[in-house]
Amino acid sequence: MTGIDGKQWGIRIVASVCLLLAFAVVVVIGRGFMVKDQFALTKAGSAYGVAISKGGICCTRTILTPLYGTLAEGQWEFTHTVYAAGYPAERTGGILARLGFVFAQSQKTSGPSSGGPAVLISAMGFACPLWFPLVLLLISPAIAIRSELKRRRHLAQPDVCRKCGYDLRASTNRCPECGTPISAAIDW
Ligand SMILES: [Zn+2]
Repeated sequence: MTGIDGKQWGIRIVASVCLLLAFAVVVVIGRGFMVKDQFALTKAGSAYGVAISKGGICCTRTILTPLYGTLAEGQWEFTHTVYAAGYPAERTGGILARLGFVFAQSQKTSGPSSGGPAVLISAMGFACPLWFPLVLLLISPAIAIRSELKRRRHLAQPDVCRKCGYDLRASTNRCPECGTPISAAIDW
């Protein structure tokens, strides 16, 4: 533990970015309890969707054969609905599902109805609670705070260079590490 070196700056920068992202996640979580945001895209015969509501994010992929639906091939849309949406997946089953981690897969054939073609619908989706990325994003700031406290504790010791943290007990004139005169290095 010495002064603020490159590694310390790296830890601080990563921690700051993570903290900003964590703040964004908190905003998204808050918004999810008022509005349901949905993004949909149809590409190469599959419909992709991302929905955020009630503290969770859900990603789905639906294969429709033949393709039908409101979106044409290559089209995308973003909608947000102001309504009390439920969590974007059913939270029943094992411990993971009850925590909000849900993976679901289904396949069904519908039709043919009213002269239309028979449609094969194959869908899979994954839902994840947003507290999970939030916890991951808070790891780095926690490490940075811990490392900073450790650094300060070290610098607060007597006979340690205030500038670089070098042990000065065996030195008399200047800090052998950074060259700061001992009087300046210890008195602050
Ligand atoms: Zn020094």
